[in-house]
Amino acid sequence: MMREIGHFIGGKEVKGSSGRFGDVFNPNTGEVQAKVALADKSDVDKAIANAEAAFPVWAATNPQRRARVMFKFLELIQREFDDFARLLSSEHGKTVADSRGDIQRGLEVVEFACGIPHLLKGEFSDGAGPGIDLFSMRQPLGVVAGITPFNFPAMIPLWKCAPAIACGNTFILKPSERDPSVPLRIAELFLKAGLPEGVLNVVNGDKEAVDALLTDPRVKAIGFVGSSAIAEYIYATGTARGKRVQCFGGAKNHMIVMPDADMDQAVDALIGAGYGSAGERCMAVSVAVPVGKKTADTLLQKLIPRVEGLKIGPADDAGVDYGPMVTRELLNKVKGYIEDGIKEGAKLVVDGRNFKLQGYENGNFIGGCLFDEVQPHMRIYKEEIFGPVLSVVRAKDYEEALRLPSEHEYGNGVAIFTRDGDTARDFTNRVQVGMVGINFAIPVPLSYYTFGGWKRSGFGDLNQHGPDAVRFYTKTKTVTARWPSGTKEGAEFVIPTMR
Ligand code: NAD
Repeated sequence: MMREIGHFIGGKEVKGSSGRFGDVFNPNTGEVQAKVALADKSDVDKAIANAEAAFPVWAATNPQRRARVMFKFLELIQREFDDFARLLSSEHGKTVADSRGDIQRGLEVVEFACGIPHLLKGEFSDGAGPGIDLFSMRQPLGVVAGITPFNFPAMIPLWKCAPAIACGNTFILKPSERDPSVPLRIAELFLKAGLPEGVLNVVNGDKEAVDALLTDPRVKAIGFVGSSAIAEYIYATGTARGKRVQCFGGAKNHMIVMPDADMDQAVDALIGAGYGSAGERCMAVSVAVPVGKKTADTLLQKLIPRVEGLKIGPADDAGVDYGPMVTRELLNKVKGYIEDGIKEGAKLVVDGRNFKLQGYENGNFIGGCLFDEVQPHMRIYKEEIFGPVLSVVRAKDYEEALRLPSEHEYGNGVAIFTRDGDTARDFTNRVQVGMVGINFAIPVPLSYYTFGGWKRSGFGDLNQHGPDAVRFYTKTKTVTARWPSGTKEGAEFVIPTMR
């Protein structure tokens, strides 16, 4: 019997009523390993009703108690860390070690959320006027929702739900239908950690579930992470209905290699950031920009054998660099981009398309691919490939290298490798990208800073995690209080001033 994955509503796993299901594949073999329920409007309605019912008590639970749930969750997950990592890997296809990293980067945001009593402190001005105090407070929004992508099935759901819940909201998570098991386990574990039923609900599904969340007036805010076209749709639809929305989209992250860079360090960085997780990361480096012909030639000479030597295999094999892609559909899309690149005249110097693994012939595997002489007008440069494909765009000088990421329509992450502090500083100040790495290829900020890209990589005003998460998941109330014992000035007809 095929395993069925349902929803998590009101503190328990439920089957759902739509009768529609999606396939969850085993990326190593290409076989369907489970069916996931795809919610319809009535399933989403139940989740919202549960979240709404749970809101008043949870919002009134003091922040210290809410933080204790976060602490307990951190303690409980340590005991199940390996199980979580294996489960994640079995549906996503990333290595178990990388799955541990996925969970760890999510837990760091739970750790941040443990500080919620401090983070929610308002401002206070004693004696702002005669007998008058002025203060601000942060209050939760109500029912909020998170819609998350397949590529970080632990990290991004935790980035969304932990701060939202810690702020006193109740939450509906709509994770990716490609790898839905870990998000459900997260919800179960939060319940064990003491979260009341209905505070965190998980609804599996596709566009139908998303649209139900987008159109329901009881949902006050939506946080989305995924591809840019859908990010834009969700931002436009949600904000038009008066919701607070933040959406994080696709990327094309460049890594500039200056002539003075440590070439071995740059090559290591490109191999890890370009091919780790089969390139299925929004912060993957997909474009290398060597500055000057000599830098490009040296870089290529060192890079080619490393790409050819990448170890690819089943996700649960501890000796591999990366595993299969999540689905055959994405694998075929990546192969389509490679054909486009060749047709447009880029030079495919390492071709991983015919990679085959004995015993795993139907798995979603692809070897590392490397393009040289990629030009900015080419589709493989303009669009996000989301696979183990690195494009080299040769820049003649620093100014051209700076222009490339700055003028690209995406602006998520960027890196520069150089030994020169002036260059690094100038680059940091002028580049039009949201997250910058200096001799650091994947500059995902730690949980107490915020994460967010610019241009078509991010829609909305506030970033994810860090202080922005608290701003996004709360509304500010400002209070002017007068406790005068003897002010009797009569009615005032002019706008009050503090004189
Ligand atoms: P996706 O856009 O296909 O799906 C994301 C979510 O949207 C899923 O929950 C999915 O069910 C839902 N969805 C899909 N189609 C929809 C539709 N038509 N209407 C409404 N909802 C829909 O993205 P993905 O393939 O799961 O993830 C990969 C993408 O996510 C890449 O573009 C990657 O760069 C991006 N990403 C961005 C960040 C970031 O922080 N900027 C982080 C991780 C991933």
